[in-house]
Amino acid sequence: MSIIKTEELTYVYGKGTPFVKQAITDVNIDINENELVALIGHTGSGKSTLVQHLNGLVRPTSGKIYIDGEDIWAEPKNIRAVRFKVGLVFQYPEYQLFDETVEKDIAFGPRNLGLSEAEIAERVKWAAEIVGLSDELLKKSPFDLSGGEKRRAAIAGVLSMKPKVLILDEPTAGLDPKGRDMLLERISRYRKESKTTVVMVSHSMEDVAKIADRVIVMHEGKVDMTGTTREVFSRSERLTQIGLNTPSVTKIMHTLRMMGADLPDEILTVEEAEKALIELLKGGKSNAL
Ligand code: ADP
Repeated sequence: MSIIKTEELTYVYGKGTPFVKQAITDVNIDINENELVALIGHTGSGKSTLVQHLNGLVRPTSGKIYIDGEDIWAEPKNIRAVRFKVGLVFQYPEYQLFDETVEKDIAFGPRNLGLSEAEIAERVKWAAEIVGLSDELLKKSPFDLSGGEKRRAAIAGVLSMKPKVLILDEPTAGLDPKGRDMLLERISRYRKESKTTVVMVSHSMEDVAKIADRVIVMHEGKVDMTGTTREVFSRSERLTQIGLNTPSVTKIMHTLRMMGADLPDEILTVEEAEKALIELLKGGKSNAL
């Protein structure tokens, strides 16, 4: 069932000024409940502008946004409710940590919702556990955390609102490979367990290949392609044309296939490559390599 839908969504920055810029044009997307959708595209293709519309942070210049079938701007005074339903984690969200302790920072949203102290404490514990922050870290100042811990604390601050849809703008940017894998694994697990819908903006094709069900590709403010992750990554020529890539492992396996190796098409992850290569060698087709 559709949870987020946009119709001919268009946004223009600086309307009526000399710096006018049409950032997105006639965007139509449809995201189903419990999907994990990746939004990819070159820098400047309109990804951030688009996601900022999905929780009502930005009002479209024209076009419509439906959440759970409701036109979110039909009653502008109800827009606050949309922001609780759709949680948006900005790029580098750790810059928005400000409270004395991590615990207080994560509690900020639930407190704003007017929940009881007991319920707030419950939410903080729950969100901290999802992102893997220990009780000890909760007592620290956010400024004393490592980069990866700060990122996870900021994400917990949005999760603690229990949004129906979680939007993450470049969640792994700037993290080391270990921090990246840990975060992706936690996002993926959380999505499966909570049945939440997740929209993830990403530059990393490796990240997308690991966890996304479906991909939306943006190019120059428009949707260029949509499809399952496998479908989109099978269009490597088009991706290259618009300045994107397939994951490195997909490229290597594609080259081997072109050289005559009997390998399945469109391998997306290292795990899949390992399996396919073992099968190939077991089948006595190793000469093909
Ligand atoms: P992405 O997230 O894919 O990098 P953005 O949504 O940030 O893309 O940007 C889309 C286009 O809108 C770009 O051309 C960008 O320069 C422009 N843009 C983004 N933010 C602003 C702003 N505050 N004022 C003017 N133009 C902007």
